[in-house]
Amino acid sequence: MSTQEMIDRVKREMEDKYGNGFKSKEVVDSGSSYINETRLGCYERVEDAISAAKESQKQLMELSMFKRKEIIAAMRKSSIDNAEKLAIMAQEETGFGRVADKIIKNVLAAEKTPGTEDLQSQAFTGDDGMTLIELAPFGVIGSITPSTNPSSTVINNSISMVAAGNGVVYNPHPGAKNVCLETIAILNKAISDVGGPKELLTAPNQPTMDTSKVIMTHKDIRMLAVTGGEAVVEIAMKSGKKCIAAGPGNPPVIVDETANIKKAASDIVKGSGFDNNVLCIAEKEAFVVNSVFNELVSEMVKNGAYELKRHEIDIVTKEVFTKNKKGETVVNRKYVGKCASEILKACNISVHSDIRLIIAEVNDSHPFINIEMLMPVFGMVRVYSIDEAIEKAVIAEKGYHHTAIMHSENVTNLTKAARALDTTIFVKNAPSYAGLGIEGEGFTTLTIATPTGEGLTSARSFTRIRRCTLSGGFRIV
Ligand code: NAD
Repeated sequence: MSTQEMIDRVKREMEDKYGNGFKSKEVVDSGSSYINETRLGCYERVEDAISAAKESQKQLMELSMFKRKEIIAAMRKSSIDNAEKLAIMAQEETGFGRVADKIIKNVLAAEKTPGTEDLQSQAFTGDDGMTLIELAPFGVIGSITPSTNPSSTVINNSISMVAAGNGVVYNPHPGAKNVCLETIAILNKAISDVGGPKELLTAPNQPTMDTSKVIMTHKDIRMLAVTGGEAVVEIAMKSGKKCIAAGPGNPPVIVDETANIKKAASDIVKGSGFDNNVLCIAEKEAFVVNSVFNELVSEMVKNGAYELKRHEIDIVTKEVFTKNKKGETVVNRKYVGKCASEILKACNISVHSDIRLIIAEVNDSHPFINIEMLMPVFGMVRVYSIDEAIEKAVIAEKGYHHTAIMHSENVTNLTKAARALDTTIFVKNAPSYAGLGIEGEGFTTLTIATPTGEGLTSARSFTRIRRCTLSGGFRIV
């Protein structure tokens, strides 16, 4: 069965079983053989978690590459076996997103994260002998993970980092710690069951800002991989350690007059509504050429969007934003990752059908456009030319260089936008998640390192390039 077939099957089964935003304790409990006080790899003291990962990483280096491949295969299998349970745990613990979509993210990470095959050596030969370039592990990596993709990030990072020969100490978001610690324990069991070290993946039982600080400054942590908003990225980049930072995005969608509007509408609702918009790559706002604006909106409504009436835009705006201490407009965390129907209900807007996305025509200075909301509320700006669309999309993207999406049949327009936006992921004529390998080709990652420039991370991103030179020999010609 291909990855796509598997994802489709899981999606159909889960939607039949759970429907919209389902939560079930039953499935979690029935599959919870590892839920207990002593999860493999989880420690009271963060220093002990670091020592355990260091010891296990040394043991990994004693094993063959053949064994490492077996370890990765076991990690994939146990992640798939537990994808449903971990999705339900994540949804229940964080209150974000949709179970069916979280299962897809877990399966995707398990199946499409590259393993040891990502590590390609190089050889140079000539009159002066031979030089070999190999990709070596860093040792122990400190990984700070987000609340929005908790188990899928742990699965994805663990496969990439272990394939590269590293151990990992995680500091999960405190609001998603149970599901992350559970994922770590499940993966450790899978690794040790096939003869690998017991605790390649570790974490403190109570991850906090303090444990994060210890990880960021500990001598035995050779590299940091940090996923989250601007604050944590800034701190990690100042740590003085080699750091791979996966920061925020605010992906714009551009739709021009040549686009297949029916498909564009369906793709935008699917991509933006996926997991209630918590994915960093999800469509967050649109710039649509005037001649197709109304048609696009009405097609989006047919595909499960609700268009806010003019007076409702203010009501929803007041509800989903608040002010911080500095008086700046910020997202009201209460609504992050919530279902569209739940947000509408809180605003006393009654709707009759299952709504996946709330849409509203606003101008380009509205917070629906400029703020990464991580909820299924989607601002749409009417523009009068492709150049205006591109110019405004570049501003909304804020120079994160993260993700952008475009629907168009005009290659010149597509090229112009791709160049101007200069994002790590640029998706053409598909839902944003095609850029992660769902209904799109290529490998996946949940750690898209934009501030530090690695982009789509995989095993090789977590390696040191080492060089071994033998002078004057070892040639066969
Ligand atoms: P968040 O920034 O609140 O938390 C992320 C992690 O950083 C958590 O583990 C948290 O405990 C830690 N953290 C936060 N502030 C910290 C501080 N001052 N010191 C030390 N640790 C700190 O983010 P979130 O709400 O969990 O996740 C959503 C954000 O992450 C969004 O901005 C999203 O775009 C981004 N994200 C990016 C990617 C990517 O691949 N680029 C992937 C997923 C999420």
